[in-house]
Amino acid sequence: MIYKDLILNKKNWNRILTSVKKGKLSHALLFHGPPGSGKEGHAVELAAYLNCNDPLNEGACGNCSSCKKIRTFQHEDVHLIIPLPRGKNWNSDDPIDKLFRSKKILNEYLSLVNEKGENPYALLRMSNANTILINSVRNIKQEASLSSINNKWKIFLIFHAEKLCVPSPEAAHALLKILEEPPEKTIFIMVSSHPEAILDTIHSRCQKKFFPAISSSVIEEKLVQSGMDNIQAGIIAHISGGDMSLQSELVENSADILEKMYQFLNASFSSDPKNWEKCIDIVSRLKMSSPAKLEQLFKCIGLFIRDLLYYASTMNDADIVFKNQVGKISKIVDKHPDADWQQCLNQVELTQEYIKRNGYVPLVITNLIMDLQQSINGEFHEPFNLHEWSN
Ligand SMILES: [Zn+2]
Repeated sequence: MIYKDLILNKKNWNRILTSVKKGKLSHALLFHGPPGSGKEGHAVELAAYLNCNDPLNEGACGNCSSCKKIRTFQHEDVHLIIPLPRGKNWNSDDPIDKLFRSKKILNEYLSLVNEKGENPYALLRMSNANTILINSVRNIKQEASLSSINNKWKIFLIFHAEKLCVPSPEAAHALLKILEEPPEKTIFIMVSSHPEAILDTIHSRCQKKFFPAISSSVIEEKLVQSGMDNIQAGIIAHISGGDMSLQSELVENSADILEKMYQFLNASFSSDPKNWEKCIDIVSRLKMSSPAKLEQLFKCIGLFIRDLLYYASTMNDADIVFKNQVGKISKIVDKHPDADWQQCLNQVELTQEYIKRNGYVPLVITNLIMDLQQSINGEFHEPFNLHEWSN
């Protein structure tokens, strides 16, 4: 195999291998499923297996010259297509230079690809790139028309395939023409977390494989194996929601996110405006610098409240995520017997929605903290009803 860290979806992988061995693999495949479920890694493994000089029963050998080239994305017959930024043409006759348009873009691409060769869950996302360029599809057409020098499979890996249709379906239509008359010994592996955004006409040409999210218990086990303590591994596995790409990011960020979460929880139990201001500041900064991190923070707050809700209703700590906070959780629950923790959870989710819709952060966060305090103290207010005001 190419990747030592890929969590193999055995059902999909065995079916794919059986199709290859029987000579029944479709020339167009669509691997779809949530982010971080390993679709891209499986696509690379399939490309490697098809062209491996010395394939094993369970996959590519990982050591032959072909496998080595695939690992560095330098195989002459395996082509990677991803969204690239638009920009002015680079003054060059080389088609690759023309496609990448600047040395800076090319360097960014090479560094991402390098990482992807090591980690099947690394994100292959270029900055300012939201579309698969029509030039990339023209290159596919040109490459597909040439026969392989070594009689190998020609393979086109198209990642973020939904971006073929953004902003117009021009690239998708161009690809469709190639899919309709596929050259011999050529395979297109499209990969997407948003298959609903791909044209029906492309869907109907593809054999589809669904890759579900990785279960949080598997992620937790992997993290513990890598040397992380059980409690931190459990928290990260839950926040990641089965997304392995997010999981590796969380391993780096979790201390920072947890600290911010505790500041939020402090503010929810405090009447000191300084604590509230800190929360407003945290959210305003994250909204600008890293919306993904902001989402992780809210998920973390939601998980902690879920623990409070769980403990309040069961008086049991078996399924608590924040196992290092059990003492604190039981104290909070005892001190606030009238709290409506479900209502708190709803308020956190609603706030996240308001922020996504560009709500004014100081107002949205102040409202959240006030609402949380009321729900925690069991002081529910009646919402205003406009109809009652008409008389
Ligand atoms: Zn090999």
